[in-house]
Amino acid sequence: MQLELKDIKGDGLEQAYTCTLSDFPDLMAMAECGGPVFSEPLAFKLRFQKTGRFVEVDGHFDAVVGLKCGRCLQSFKQSLAESFNLTFVPQIESADGDDEEEIELETEELGLTPYREETLKLRDPLQEQLLMAIPISPLCDESCQGLCPECGCNRNIEACDCTRKPFNNKFTALAGMDFKK
Ligand SMILES: [Zn+2]
Ligand SMILES: [Zn+2]
Repeated sequence: MQLELKDIKGDGLEQAYTCTLSDFPDLMAMAECGGPVFSEPLAFKLRFQKTGRFVEVDGHFDAVVGLKCGRCLQSFKQSLAESFNLTFVPQIESADGDDEEEIELETEELGLTPYREETLKLRDPLQEQLLMAIPISPLCDESCQGLCPECGCNRNIEACDCTRKPFNNKFTALAGMDFKK
């Protein structure tokens, strides 16, 4: 997943990439340890435009990710479709070669993606876009009823009698306590 700078002509270049999970090691690792699992294929559309030594990228992806609902703990699939922008800039070679990593970090903090030797490496920036698109608190449905805190049943599927009991047993117990010193 890379592109030679010379392939981007004056009026830009449009590329479509159809990727698999194995193209993205961080996504693979995440799936293997029980985190969100992206379905295949992962479809990217990228438009590259060269401005001097800078390359602007208008990107879009369509993906489906398997998540676990934060309320009812059921697995579900969610479609993700996002547009994004990237800016590739030539890697500045430091004079003494010592603080190259530092320069690279600074470039990334500015939201820029450094490239070397006339080659744009796409894997890491694309992987980052997918990671950023994962919802932080996934819900299978806005109206998900979650699990019953008493018996643990999934209230989307079954009704239980727990809610008919006195509102909160903890407070009922406190009411009977003697708080005098
Ligand atoms: Zn749910
Ligand atoms: Zn219950």
